Amino acid sequence: MSSRADPPAHQRGSSERAGLPGRLWRDYLRPYAPRMGVAMVLMIIEGSTLAVLSWMLRPLFDRVFVGGDGSAIWWVGGIIFGLFLIRATTLVITRALLTSVQQGVAVSMQTDLLHHILTLDGSFYQKNPPGALIERIQGDTQAIQGIWTTFISGAGRDVISLVSLFGVAIAIDPWWTLAAVVGAPLLIVPTYFVQRYIRRRTRETRIEASRRATRLDEVLHGIAAIRVNGMESYQSGRFRAIVEGLRRRETKMSAMKALIPALIDIVTGLGFVGVLALGGAQVTRGERSVGDFMSFFTALSLAFQPLRRLGGLAGGWQAAMTSLERIYEVFDTRATIASGARTAPPEGTTIRFEDVHLSYGEQPVLRGLTFTAEAGRTTALVGPSGAGKSTVFNLLTRMVDPDGGRVTLGGVPVADFTLPVLRDQFSVVTQDSALFDETLRENIDPGHRADPEALRRAVLAAHVADFTDALPGGLDTPAGPRGSALSGGQRQRIGIARAILRDRPVLLLDEATSALDAASERLVQAALQELSAGRTTLIIAHRLSTIRAADLIVVMEAGRVVEQGTHDQLMEQGGAYAALVRLQFGGD
Ligand code: ADP
Repeated sequence: MSSRADPPAHQRGSSERAGLPGRLWRDYLRPYAPRMGVAMVLMIIEGSTLAVLSWMLRPLFDRVFVGGDGSAIWWVGGIIFGLFLIRATTLVITRALLTSVQQGVAVSMQTDLLHHILTLDGSFYQKNPPGALIERIQGDTQAIQGIWTTFISGAGRDVISLVSLFGVAIAIDPWWTLAAVVGAPLLIVPTYFVQRYIRRRTRETRIEASRRATRLDEVLHGIAAIRVNGMESYQSGRFRAIVEGLRRRETKMSAMKALIPALIDIVTGLGFVGVLALGGAQVTRGERSVGDFMSFFTALSLAFQPLRRLGGLAGGWQAAMTSLERIYEVFDTRATIASGARTAPPEGTTIRFEDVHLSYGEQPVLRGLTFTAEAGRTTALVGPSGAGKSTVFNLLTRMVDPDGGRVTLGGVPVADFTLPVLRDQFSVVTQDSALFDETLRENIDPGHRADPEALRRAVLAAHVADFTDALPGGLDTPAGPRGSALSGGQRQRIGIARAILRDRPVLLLDEATSALDAASERLVQAALQELSAGRTTLIIAHRLSTIRAADLIVVMEAGRVVEQGTHDQLMEQGGAYAALVRLQFGGD
């Protein structure tokens, strides 16, 4: 997919929009070219059957009905039946071929989109909440799916039908044909405006659909809070407003989409009248045969459906292009965090922050942060909420980059490493260890790569075995959506087991603030000790026992280090730390 280095969406003009089908072809459709080619040929065959059908009416009328030649019934009937057999066969095969192309493209596109989204960073996720991204991965890929069938059947079957039917018409009488299409220029201007309207409105509709998905995502993740606070009607009301808006837009748009086929109806009606006036008179005067007229009239009638479908295609095409544009917008978004080049892991694991500055927009978060976490030791980050402690983790793992200063690991700036190598140095255990709706085993060992013995040791060390032994399914018990089948302490222990198994040299630990019962807390604490032994550990500490056990305590306030030392040293100083301990833990 070499073509993805294009400029971001907001810089894209209409010429680039016009380039999207080409990119789609290069990125996704090319492998299916043979299948699409076969489908196209079959469509052409199917399309031309209509012309043959209308052509056959001439001998039917002139020889059989008017001429009285009974034997012609059989061969004309045989050919007509054969035509329908061909249509039936091509229909099934092309449907199967096109569906396989459609589905194949959807699989690759959805997988690529998710994969690409996973490489992007914080600023992207802030602008695009999960619901909106789900809508892009599912809704937009689906919206462009229909276009294969419509377009290939449009280009193949319908265009061929039209061309061949008009061929028949012209062969019978060019003047009648001219009379039939006399109203066609009436279509040009409305088609242009309808296309423009649909393009604009589709984009708004897609945005509205993203809003719906985002709202659903938020509501469904907040069910407990909504119910406890009695916000059910309020939330349903807000949801209803969004879906109502969507309904109004969809209704308007579908009326607009029907406008072109409707105009085609009117133009065709005019054409029929024209032909009747011109041809009907000639037949009654005996200048042309009834067969000529019936054949022509049938060709015109049969041209009507494909023409209508092609007219509808314009709207469908605009809608699909809008979704395609939204899909490529995501593909064209690049991570702002650039990977370094160094693939060798660092020699040591000492973590150093040197005068690090970082702001989110206008808001300064770190203001000259400087500290060192020695290799093999445990360093506790302590301070009020909002002091910038989590940001330290984000800088180390390069979820964000600093505006100024240096962050080094083993003496090497973190920005020098490739992102996979850098992130491979850390095990991260956060407050709410992200669990997935898979079994506990899969949550601890994603991809089943671990040696069973190592897994067993991790499960024991993290005190996971303490509760899984009592479960009938053991480690194969599902964790529930987002780990909801487990208690807070259990979830943390699963996270710790995962980190033990990962066995990285540096451990980043965000201790849970949520209260655990005393027994759980003891188990989590024991599991953490097991995990941090011998590793360079940086811990956002909330519990006095953890803080006291640390080799160094770094006290942060408003993005700076205000004090550092051991518990005893800091208590003796009687500064910020001593105050914090008295405030949070009721003295020492
Ligand atoms: P702590 O972990 O000490 O509670 P954080 O490092 O999480 O503090 O956050 C420090 C400050 O940075 C907070 O004021 C927070 O609002 C702000 N902040 C953190 N992440 C973002 C973000 N992605 N966008 C904007 N502000 C952020």
